[in-house]
Parts: sequence; C-alpha cells; structure tokens
Amino acid sequence: MNSGLIRSWVKSANAADCPFPLNNLPCGVFSVGDEELRCGVAIGDYVLDVTGLEEEGLLSLAGGPLLDVPFWNEVMGAGPAVWADLRGRLTALLAEGSADQAGVEPFLVPLAEVELHLPFLVAEYTDFYAGRHHATNVGTMFRGAENALPPNWLHIPIGYNGRASSVVVSGTEVRRPWGQVKGPDHAVPSFQPSRRFDIELEMGAVVGMPSDGPVTVAEADAMIFGYVLLNDWSARDIQAWEYQPLGPFQAKATATTISPWVVMKAALEPFRTATPPREVPLLPHLQEPGPMLYDIALEVGLRPEGGAETVIARTNYREMYYSAAQQLAHHTTSGCPMTTGDLLGSGTISGPTKDSRGSLLELSWGGKEPIAIAGGARSFIEDHDTLTLRGWCKGEGYIIGFGDCVGKVTPAHADPYAR
Ligand code: CA
Repeated sequence: MNSGLIRSWVKSANAADCPFPLNNLPCGVFSVGDEELRCGVAIGDYVLDVTGLEEEGLLSLAGGPLLDVPFWNEVMGAGPAVWADLRGRLTALLAEGSADQAGVEPFLVPLAEVELHLPFLVAEYTDFYAGRHHATNVGTMFRGAENALPPNWLHIPIGYNGRASSVVVSGTEVRRPWGQVKGPDHAVPSFQPSRRFDIELEMGAVVGMPSDGPVTVAEADAMIFGYVLLNDWSARDIQAWEYQPLGPFQAKATATTISPWVVMKAALEPFRTATPPREVPLLPHLQEPGPMLYDIALEVGLRPEGGAETVIARTNYREMYYSAAQQLAHHTTSGCPMTTGDLLGSGTISGPTKDSRGSLLELSWGGKEPIAIAGGARSFIEDHDTLTLRGWCKGEGYIIGFGDCVGKVTPAHADPYAR
C-alpha cells in the first residue's frame, strides 16, 4: 500500500516535507479577498480551485455539479464511488507528465493568498472519551485511582452529544468562557471566568454517508469520508462542577476548533493500524474486522503573546482504545440516524508517558505540577496564549499533513449579567 510519493508537475508538492503531496489531496474551502467562497484541494504551496475546474468542465462527477457550493457535503453525500473517482481524476490532472497541465495551471491559487473556512457544514457533533490513558488520568484525578475507569469503559466508547454550532475553523479566536464553578466545601458556587481553561488534542472523523438503523463496524468505516484535527476546548473548573451525572455541558460548549483540511480516508489507507489488545473481549457488534486506527503523529504547541512556542505534548492517534468506526457503529446501535456532515471527536489522545498527554489538565496533573514553557510555566491556558495542534503521517519520501489547528485565547468579556 505504501508505495511512495506520487510525483506532480506542481513542484512544491514533491518536497519530502510538504504536507500536501499528490498522495494527500485534502478538501477545504477558501476565498481570496472579497471573492466568493469556493471548494479547493491543497497541492504543494497551492490550493487547486476545484469549483473552477468543475465550472470549466475539466472535472465532472456523477450527479454533479457537486462543487458549486462552498462546502464539501454534496461530495461527501455522493458516496465512496464518487470519492474514489474524484481522487482518480485529480491525480490524473496533477500527475507529472499530465497532458492537462496547461489547462489546470490557471486554477492554482497560492496558499499564502487565501483565507480558509470551515470545509463542510457540521450537521451534528458528538464527542467521545475513548483514549485509555486520558480516561485513566482524568478518572484518577476526579475519582481516585481505584475508580478511574468506570465499569462500562472497556465495553463501549463513552460519548456525549455536543454542539455543532460551536465548531469553528482553525484561526478563529476563542474567548475565555464564564461559568458556574464549585464553591469551597458546601459553600455557594460562584459565577466567574474559567480559571482552568484547557485544550483537548483529538482527531475528528467526518461522516460522509448517512445511516438509518444499526450498522456494523465495517459499514461504519465505509461511511467515513475523512479526518480532521480537533481541539475540544474545555473549561475544567466548570466541568468538575457540572458533569455529574449527565456528563459535560457548558464546559465543552464554548468552541471546538478543527483543522481547515479534511484528509480523505483514502490518503490515510497506507497508515492503518490496529487498536491495542483488548483487556476484556468486546461484544461481537463492536469487534473490528481489521485495523481501523491510523498511525498519525500528533503534537501540541503553546505560544504566549510575543513569545516563542514550546511543544508541550507529542503523541499518536494509534494510542486510542476505540476507533472512529467503532464509535460510529456504537452511535447507531439505538437506531440513531447519522447524517452527512456528522463530526465525531475521538476523545483526548494521550500516550503512556508524561510528555504525551493531550491536555493541560493531565500535563500539569490538575495544576499541581505546572509545566515549563519558554520563558515561563503553565498549569492551564492564560489569556493571549496561542495553541496549535499538528498532525502528520510519515510515508516513504512524503508526509500527509492536515494543516495546523490553531486557536488563540482572548480574555473573558466583562460580566455578561452586570446591569
Ligand atoms: Ca473531548
């Protein structure tokens, strides 16, 4: 499967460290200046204007036009045969030696000149809690080591229904939220700006094909269009007070940032890897027919205002206990209909070591052990900090990148209820 770099006449796409070689072809939405939003595919240092290619008849897809709207949902809903056809046609147009180079070249726009937008309309958003190291760390802090993993954890991927309206694209500033937090002992709680605002390093699975009724893990895998990086911003002090017994609510509702490019599942195929060994066997409906995770290296950078960035965590998506396909299959067991544009957060991806933890809550162990950063220390996010998630798969002579998933935290508003 891992057959090496596919060379393109777009020279910058052939560099070994370019995140967007011809093997990748991730899907985004871009604009230039005040012009309308268009669908594009990243290649080298450029965005290929696929909306323009379709308009000019250089790219036609079954059931089209599918790219005449500023989101990828129509392509996603058209199904796996169209996804494969799209990749095949774009590869032919962009490959070294293509007879179409002169016709396609006018549709390349330098990445440096574009603004990127949400790549798809987020229909609904569900977030899971499916990383074992993370669940163990957080459970230990919140409930003690003996009760760290709840009794259901090794049998189902635990999740909650989030807010699609809160999903924003990389680069969007995130304002520190207000919320109700626990008072000392049994005192009255207080309403204040969160003092323990945090990130969660996750992958997001983007559902392409809808379902009506329960699906198998294999069917769920086939429904997934692609993956993004996802930062599930979390207010830990609000979460600790509100989460029992129904789980997170306002603590997770401020914003969720995703990377600007959806990397299609086909680009990730060479990097498939199995979930870890099961401590207890899963019930048959959640067992996997093959490897359903991916080897995706991940890191988190934190940069204070005016300062240098420190990489505060390095981990890998293969650390998850449950795959997105298992999560999606579980999501349908009740008959819950899944729709084109559903976004599934993996849950925080922490590794086994201290420097591989995907949240500040874990890195600073609840604030008890602040971590060193260039020019200072952090327990949680401070105002004007910029947090950047990065991810890549390393192939032979090429990498598959997702584009940075960036958010800067701005100070809380004045008391929103002061009159
Ligand atoms: Ca989460």
